[in-house]
Amino acid sequence: MSTKFKKFGVLLLALVFVFSLAACGNSDEGTEGGGSDDGESSDDKIVIGFSMDTLQEERWQRDRDFFVEKAEALGAEVLVQSANSDDAKQISQAENLISQGVDVLVVVPHSAKAAAAIVEKAHEAGIKVLSYDRLIKEADVDLYVSFDNERVGEMQATAIVEAAPTGNYVLIEGADTDNNAHLFKQGQMNILQPLVDKGDITIVYEQFTEGWDPANALANMENALTVNENNIDAVVAANDGTAGGVIQALEQQGLAGQVPVSGQDAELAGIQRIVEGTQTMTVYKPIKDLAYNSAQLAIDLANGKTIETEKVVNNDFKDVPSILLDPIPVSKDNIDETVIADGFHSEEDVYAE
Ligand code: BGC
Repeated sequence: MSTKFKKFGVLLLALVFVFSLAACGNSDEGTEGGGSDDGESSDDKIVIGFSMDTLQEERWQRDRDFFVEKAEALGAEVLVQSANSDDAKQISQAENLISQGVDVLVVVPHSAKAAAAIVEKAHEAGIKVLSYDRLIKEADVDLYVSFDNERVGEMQATAIVEAAPTGNYVLIEGADTDNNAHLFKQGQMNILQPLVDKGDITIVYEQFTEGWDPANALANMENALTVNENNIDAVVAANDGTAGGVIQALEQQGLAGQVPVSGQDAELAGIQRIVEGTQTMTVYKPIKDLAYNSAQLAIDLANGKTIETEKVVNNDFKDVPSILLDPIPVSKDNIDETVIADGFHSEEDVYAE
């Protein structure tokens, strides 16, 4: 029937479109060299499984939306799962994606180590794994795409030291299970340790925040204030969510705005607190670049391409080929030139009452 032929023609056109997009999509930043081409004789769409830990923080919804947008524009289909901060759930969701026959897996691990099981299962099924934003540890990860997370920590500490060069410091870190939390802390200590050694600052309290949960950050900060009889001069908080908890605890003691607090993610609430003066800084990570690059790279992996990178990061199993994008510190002085200029937030939202 002619409709059959029409359908076939449309399909053919779509395929030609997909392949031409894939062919000219190789110029993405961070992807060097091409390696061998399509290992598969794939006659249908590439399907990407995107296994996310959580959608708790505002950023992850952007990650998901930008990733899907780019992958679809490149002709792929994305199956997204979010595990609600539960390792067992994330593993079973990933198994599900594998049994549905995805061509590649992109994983934001809840726990860096527990997610190693996902890599193993994917590899048994011949599926490559891209570790997205957070590194999966002790596993044969194929590619890691993130920001320079140690730099993030350095930026946080640098801004807080500028605001409070001496005194009692509190460190409210991220989730112990998240490799990034350790990298942020490492970066912070690169800046803080020399000042501790000099006697300029004293770290009077430090604590990881279970599940990155702002309620836990609030409880930890209340504890830090109590133990130190409110004698705290600065707080390095690992992201805007934890900063929110910290600032709430400071508010309860009438100290909000007097104690510098760092953050990360350029969440709208964080940016608004910077405008209002209760938060000192945040770190803006252009999520669109991360998501767009990763979508292209996931498709490359699915097509059997070898991705060559300038950097590697060791995950206690191997040196994982890695692409690390640049974070940007944001304070009151550069909100307009960064997050607003980039369209990450609108001027109306940022300066809303
Ligand atoms: C991410 C941060 C995020 C945090 C909590 C980290 O791994 O890099 O951007 O705020 O997880 O989800």
